[in-house]
Amino acid sequence: MQIPELTAYLNGRFAPLEQLQVPVLDRGFLFGDGVYEVIPVYSRLPFRLDEHLTRLENSLAAVQIDNPHSRETWRTLILEIIRLQGFADQSVYLQVTRGPAYPRNHVIPTKVEPTVLIYADPLTQPSPDLVEQGVAVVSAADIRWLRCNIKATTLLANVLLRQLAVAEGAAETVLFRDGLLIEGSSSNIFVVIQGEILAPPPSHLMLTGITYDLILELARQHGMAHRVCEITEQQVRDADEVWLTSSSKEVLAVVSMDGRPVGNGQPGPLFRAMYRHYQQFKRDVMRHKEQQA
Ligand code: PMP
Repeated sequence: MQIPELTAYLNGRFAPLEQLQVPVLDRGFLFGDGVYEVIPVYSRLPFRLDEHLTRLENSLAAVQIDNPHSRETWRTLILEIIRLQGFADQSVYLQVTRGPAYPRNHVIPTKVEPTVLIYADPLTQPSPDLVEQGVAVVSAADIRWLRCNIKATTLLANVLLRQLAVAEGAAETVLFRDGLLIEGSSSNIFVVIQGEILAPPPSHLMLTGITYDLILELARQHGMAHRVCEITEQQVRDADEVWLTSSSKEVLAVVSMDGRPVGNGQPGPLFRAMYRHYQQFKRDVMRHKEQQA
């Protein structure tokens, strides 16, 4: 395994990522007992940091891990990791597990110190070609648990679902449960039907993306017709446009699903408008932050 030279943070210490180790009895390793966040950073400025920290706090509370840090400390640690990298556009990965405990036992130990890992990769943003051409997806029945609203590290089902897309040379697997659209294996999904943007309602069955919220905010701001409502599998298959969103993919047009074209098989006009609004919003936020700094 080749690990690039990145400075990471583990439990109070900044050091090269390749030198950091966690005990084999860490419950993150044994049980997938942990939560995480992925925060995009543009020109060393974290995007929607407060929203990510709110979701982190909610995930920790939902799995009963004591939050090891105040919001101010989280912010300081993340800004320090950003400062320590040799590149400006980053993807910050932050993980908190319940920590190491012996003996191995499902029961949550009373005395346990959470493990905190933070590091940053160079951010890979979608290429102009990908934005222009859109992506192919496959679909599958959602086999995950019933608490998908928690951003848990327990991602085996997501990994297996994503692999279905990889096997078909597709970018993502769109998940349906009981005939309804839920989300992608690592993204949220929107559809456009007759000029209206539709988004599935947040629930315990899906992770409400920071990008999902932003897309709805932008639709509101720009007076684009939109609605949060249950969306059937058939509606997705017949939709004029399908989009996928995440912090790293931003917003991408889905142009085919299971080998059949979505709409006319091209990124649609509302996608193009939303993509422009998203890029403009990013520029505005970053300019504003730079002026404050
Ligand atoms: N759903 C799932 C299952 C995810 O893993 C992600 C994040 N990769 C998202 C939705 C999108 O969330 P965000 O916009 O906060 O990146």
